[in-house]
Amino acid sequence: MRRAFTIPQDEPHVTITINVGEDFKSIVWKAQYDMDFKTECLFCYSDKIKGYRVEDEWGRNGKVAVCPHCEKVNAVYL
Ligand SMILES: [Zn+2]
Repeated sequence: MRRAFTIPQDEPHVTITINVGEDFKSIVWKAQYDMDFKTECLFCYSDKIKGYRVEDEWGRNGKVAVCPHCEKVNAVYL
């Protein structure tokens, strides 16, 4: 008999895997605005970066800082 696989709801180590330099996938990641950073983008000359809470289709979540200009992930934070 097969048992249904369930993802624990309150597992603190279930974090989304996102790499710096990745393109921001706002729809796939269900991004919600979190905060602004006064930091220069690593990839272009923009001097503003926005932080978002993200969650993927498996319920894994994390926070990423994304440049609104080139839409690349600049950092992954807690
Ligand atoms: Zn940029």
